[in-house]
Amino acid sequence: MAPKADVQVLIVGGGIAGLTLANICKRIGLTYKVLERTAEVAPVGAGISLAPNALRLLDQLGFMDQIRKEGQPLRKIQVFRNTTKWSMLDFEWLEGAYGYSMYSMPRHSLHRALYQATGTEHVILDAEVVSFEDEPSSPSVKVQLADGREFSGEVLVGADGIRSITRRLLADKQGLAGVNTIRFTGRTHMTGISYPLTHLGPEDLGVATWVFYDDCILTSWPCTENRQWFVGVKPSEAKTITRSTWKGATKEMINDVYGHRFHPMGKNQTVRDVVDIAERVTASDVFEETAFPDMSFGRVALVGDSAHSMTSFIGQGACQAIEDVGELANGLHTYFAGQTNDPQVLRDVLVDYRKSREPRARNLVYYSSIFAQVHTGRLPYGLGPLARRLAFIYAPTWCWRWATDPLYGYQPRVHALDMLSS
Ligand SMILES: Cc1cc2nc3c(=O)[nH]c(=O)nc-3n(C[C@H](O)[C@H](O)[C@H](O)COP(=O)(O)OP(=O)(O)OC[C@H]3O[C@@H](n4cnc5c(N)ncnc54)[C@H](O)[C@@H]3O)c2cc1C
Repeated sequence: MAPKADVQVLIVGGGIAGLTLANICKRIGLTYKVLERTAEVAPVGAGISLAPNALRLLDQLGFMDQIRKEGQPLRKIQVFRNTTKWSMLDFEWLEGAYGYSMYSMPRHSLHRALYQATGTEHVILDAEVVSFEDEPSSPSVKVQLADGREFSGEVLVGADGIRSITRRLLADKQGLAGVNTIRFTGRTHMTGISYPLTHLGPEDLGVATWVFYDDCILTSWPCTENRQWFVGVKPSEAKTITRSTWKGATKEMINDVYGHRFHPMGKNQTVRDVVDIAERVTASDVFEETAFPDMSFGRVALVGDSAHSMTSFIGQGACQAIEDVGELANGLHTYFAGQTNDPQVLRDVLVDYRKSREPRARNLVYYSSIFAQVHTGRLPYGLGPLARRLAFIYAPTWCWRWATDPLYGYQPRVHALDMLSS
């Protein structure tokens, strides 16, 4: 008789998607293992904003106290065109409308919290997945690592980011030609998180800043103690790009592009004032999907960026990853609780997952792309500058509520966690 799987849920990738799923598995009593390529869980990126649609599930998992402690709720966004103030948008209604505000925090605080709560013994580091087999006759999906080790799971979840090997192998197995499904967007992100801006006061807490310069934009998000997490976006001069994250990005590189520009929260009202006191900075060339893979095939499911990377303009990449794993976990819980051990039932569960998630993921990728065009003033027929003025100067609060409702009004939960807490 073929040996049973090592675990019920085998997860490729220990990013926000993979570790959130691992935490759910732990809480609902499924056995799990995370295979992570890197040798350590080191800080990646700078900051992150968590929106109400993801916070509902993180709250269920017990992370809300930490997010409230380490994250700053958003109160307002001040919008500038070069040095001219366009508006101060109010977002204090978020919590009343959706149960949560939007919280910005150091990205590694969230990642570290997820990692520690996962149970570090369940995360295999230095474990680069290079292939998998999902033979219908086998009781498990088998995964091979670059160093020759093998692991197996009753279900395999690809949470391995935008350059997902799981997605590429799935496409191969489906006979799809488009193995390379990402392309360079032509934009470069430069980002960082500052230490507290001590010249600011309590009235500045929770105030984000968006500045539309003539040739680029910079948004900065308020973290606790008046720290600012900033993201500059500029068209890239490079023509051929093969990797996303720059090796060795420095403050000087960021200052070369943005340092001289206006930032209302800088001590001398320049971006340099914020960058110079950055705790860490990174830069990356931004890629996007050219084709949507199916979010499941056989006994393999995709979650997060491996399934649907989107522009960072609406701050939803990780939030959608969290939605994905919540909905996937609902299906997996139903399947494993049923104890049918019938792989066909599992495949059907994953088809349901795919059908429920794909429309939302596609809509959000489209939404984020349109919002990026409004934000950068680049809509077809030269409508960008007008649309941007209308949106950021004249749109009343109800308009923002209407625009954000599709994002924040949908808040998936893990039903099994509800049952546990009732
Ligand atoms: C500048 C910027 C700002 C952003 N801001 C926000 C925001 O405010 N809010 C928000 O919700 N989203 C934001 N995002 C998007 C968000 O960061 C991503 O969508 C999210 O991190 C995706 O998580 P993930 O777990 O799917 O993928 P990743 O974080 O990419 O994790 C994938 C993991 O898989 C591992 N891996 C890869 N290949 C293998 C392999 N073969 N074997 C084993 N392991 C492997 C990787 O090492 C990595 O740890 C932003 C993105 C950028 C670039």
